[in-house]
Amino acid sequence: MKEKMKAMVLYGPKDIRYEEVDKPVCGDNDVLLQIKAIGLCGSDIRTITYGHYKVKYPQIIGHEITGQVAETGKNVKKFKAGDRLYVSPVVPCHECKACRLGYEELCENLTVIGTEIQGDYAEYMLLEEKVLKNGVVLSIPDELEYEQAVITEPLSSVYACQENCSITLGDTVAIIGMGPIGCLHTALAKIRGAKAVIAIEQSEERLNKSKEFGADYLINSSKEDPVAKVREITGGWGAEKVISACPSTDAQNQAISMACKKGTVIFFGGVPKGKLTNIDTNIIHYNTLTLIGHYGYSNLQARKAFSLITSGRLDAKKFVTHVLPLKEIEKAVELTRSGEAIKVVLKP
Ligand SMILES: [Zn+2]
Ligand SMILES: [Zn+2]
Repeated sequence: MKEKMKAMVLYGPKDIRYEEVDKPVCGDNDVLLQIKAIGLCGSDIRTITYGHYKVKYPQIIGHEITGQVAETGKNVKKFKAGDRLYVSPVVPCHECKACRLGYEELCENLTVIGTEIQGDYAEYMLLEEKVLKNGVVLSIPDELEYEQAVITEPLSSVYACQENCSITLGDTVAIIGMGPIGCLHTALAKIRGAKAVIAIEQSEERLNKSKEFGADYLINSSKEDPVAKVREITGGWGAEKVISACPSTDAQNQAISMACKKGTVIFFGGVPKGKLTNIDTNIIHYNTLTLIGHYGYSNLQARKAFSLITSGRLDAKKFVTHVLPLKEIEKAVELTRSGEAIKVVLKP
């Protein structure tokens, strides 16, 4: 008889069930991971609510992954039972044109754990040969808890963004959206030497929390005009870097208007499919702005994000506000949606 495990299985939009499924069988080249801490990501909430075009139902989703090696295949030499691991969910092929050009995050054959293959909303997950060979699987130092190591995933993307657009010493950085991503952007911008971070958010609760991560100025965009306010704070000049980290076309539009001359505007978060942003392109033209789209991260950037956490440069503990059992995912989603939680970590 097949061994069983508990898992959270997504059957379709708004249909997720906690149930017993077959436990994966560890092949000769695989590692069987016992999941320890799972990050609940905003994109998971979107997938649970609206579905995802790449997910084949029923699917065990989840892509912010930490766990302990339960079993290794006989050909696996690099890992052994008991190893504590962080696993990056994006696995590039290293062969396509994008990969060869160094843009692994844009890999044409990208495998995403929790989308195309089983994720970590379960007691166990298989790390197949492809993941072990082409992905990023890192050993978590003893002194670091799983709950903190799991922050590596969202931080990887934030790290990649700030590295790609060179947030640097002396920049004033305006960040729209103070969810977990906005808070990570805030903390990282300060580490990179930003002179000031201006946090912009509609929820008073989230806005207040951003102070903890180093935000210097807070703007509640449901109460005041964020563009006018950024101009006021910067003596009329505007922000050197503006990051739109919320799924809003209005935010994207405002971002362009609050950047300084020669400033850089980054569209970090996607907007709902089909929604168009009305932009006065003359602002980009006359102010010679740089407009950057951001998505994903390379293997190297994932490693760098991990080392920011393991070295203690970025205090991951602060971001984890709630730890809940996996079966209470609905509560976790609610806590995240309401803004009460910054990051909820789930445990199988
Ligand atoms: Zn994520
Ligand atoms: Zn590729």
